Amino acid sequence: MAIDPHEVLKTVFGFDSFRGRQAEVIDHLLGGGDCLVLMPTGGGKSLCFQIPALCRDGVAIVISPLIALMEDQVAALKQNGVRAEALHSGLPAGAWADIDERLHRGDLDLLYVSPERLMKNGFLDRLGSCPLALFAIDEAHCVSQWGHDFRPEYRQLSLLADRFPEVPRIALTATADIPTRNDIIERLRLPADSVFAAGFDRPNIRYRVTPKNNPRDQLLDFLNAEHGGDAGIVYCQTRKRTDETAAWLSAQGWRTLPYHAGLDASVRADHQARFIKEEGVVMVATIAFGMGIDKPNVRFVAHMDLPKSLESYYQETGRAGRDGLPANAWMAYGMQDVARIGQFIVNSEADETQKRLERRKLDSLVGFCETATCRRQVLLGYFGETLAEPCGNCDTCLEPVETFDGTEVVQKALSCVYRTGEIFGAAHVIDVLLGGDTDKVRRFRHNELSTYGVGEGTSRPEWQSIFRQLVAMGLLIVDVEGHGGLRMGPDCRPVLRGDQRIELRKETFRKSSKKAAKSGGGAAARATLNDPDDEALFQELRQRRMELARAQGVPPYVIFNDRTLVEIAQARPRHAHELARLNGVGEVKLQRYGDEFLAVVDAHGG
Ligand code: ADP
Ligand code: ZN
Repeated sequence: MAIDPHEVLKTVFGFDSFRGRQAEVIDHLLGGGDCLVLMPTGGGKSLCFQIPALCRDGVAIVISPLIALMEDQVAALKQNGVRAEALHSGLPAGAWADIDERLHRGDLDLLYVSPERLMKNGFLDRLGSCPLALFAIDEAHCVSQWGHDFRPEYRQLSLLADRFPEVPRIALTATADIPTRNDIIERLRLPADSVFAAGFDRPNIRYRVTPKNNPRDQLLDFLNAEHGGDAGIVYCQTRKRTDETAAWLSAQGWRTLPYHAGLDASVRADHQARFIKEEGVVMVATIAFGMGIDKPNVRFVAHMDLPKSLESYYQETGRAGRDGLPANAWMAYGMQDVARIGQFIVNSEADETQKRLERRKLDSLVGFCETATCRRQVLLGYFGETLAEPCGNCDTCLEPVETFDGTEVVQKALSCVYRTGEIFGAAHVIDVLLGGDTDKVRRFRHNELSTYGVGEGTSRPEWQSIFRQLVAMGLLIVDVEGHGGLRMGPDCRPVLRGDQRIELRKETFRKSSKKAAKSGGGAAARATLNDPDDEALFQELRQRRMELARAQGVPPYVIFNDRTLVEIAQARPRHAHELARLNGVGEVKLQRYGDEFLAVVDAHGG
């Protein structure tokens, strides 16, 4: 008997229509085909296999690399009345046998397993005796060494093609880069012509990059202006900075938790669980945090330091706004970051080719930070996509960057680098330009140079901005093999001679970004709730959701996600049938929670 996928979408998940390429993927699987699905985070990958799992006979086996991921999805499915379970090493004794028994009784729609489990103790043999709907291989980039999360056990998944030739297989990932994609197809033996790639744009994320002066205060201004009560992630480069930033933010009244590899496993697990299960927690973390975090209502991701590459940046910022509601990606960056990453590349074990590649990645990253055009265009362009028009939702679009003829200041900067011997960092060169009286200036007698003090008409932050742009343009090179000194790039000559005009972006230096955030069209991340009374109701709904979630020990968003609560706050349904129309209200949830939430609306009045 065929079950209509649209019917399942509405009755089970409460959604009206498929998104992007979901419908195509689902049809393909229902027709028995294998495929690779490439969609950005929040693109709706899960439904691509969850719906066919419910439409086809038998149980769907979902291979997932992380317990947290599995549990999250299973909890969400159960809320919708779907029979899903997860098999992993964290299960209490006895649970295994129970799930195994249900599996063989045909009492499961989806079974999540780790790759280790799948391969162990003749599990595959036992699966042979169950009707199988499909295999879904989630986070499929784990199969590739190119990817950032290589998992050797994923390699063995290639044997599913031999063992279960008649069971459709779907691999899914949000990874954007081409070598990883090709690797997945090859390793998992998927048909190269069944790739469903969605655009990688995340239109609801607003990108912003700000020059680093006093990053803590800048962060605080940003949070105060836009994210009171919101959950978010603050990424820091080192463990020490993570701890310090967390402690400091906490002293400023923010609910923060630190997360890095130096903390006990139990502390990390506890902090992660609290981030997921509580509302409004700000996780201050190294990149050790994030993989497998499916929390849909992360409202911002802030970078206190430059990430390793644009790939990392995209992956990390992609953790914001999975629910499709407005979210912020905010970053502070300075020249020291560039020197640090450069040094890291030089000192790594990689061979020369690899190092050159990493170097180019760093250049692209700096180019992104310094761009005077739409950031989204730069970002997507890097991943091989084109965005025809500027996005209107990044800082350069919202507050267009003014440019100026920088030919003269650039000449001053370059010749000062040259005359000081191409061994000093920007800070000292700027001291010389500004006619500073420092030990270093005196020691090297740089006060006797012709460029000493010629830059006095330009402020230090302006000079810093100019030097960053020169590095981004390749006119200056950060010499990472020395001590981060600047040297001349290969194309300096014509500029020095005055044969080439240079256009620079004018940095606007603000005292407080609070004002800037408001004036710059920088609506708060939950821009959907402009009406204060809707916002008040939203908070009451959120409160009730938290109580319901606590009572069951599940994350609040599996009860209803923020988008559903936003819709309730705006539509103010009075009756169950009105509630049922809203996004994310399936039959089971309506039955379980309908009255609870209708009561909140009713009590709020209006
Ligand atoms: P991904 O795994 O690609 O990061 P998810 O599968 O977690 O994304 O989906 C992201 C969010 O979008 C979830 O909250 C999900 O419920 C929602 N979603 C997915 N498909 C639809 C749809 N067709 N209509 C409405 N919401 C959807
Ligand atoms: Zn833009």
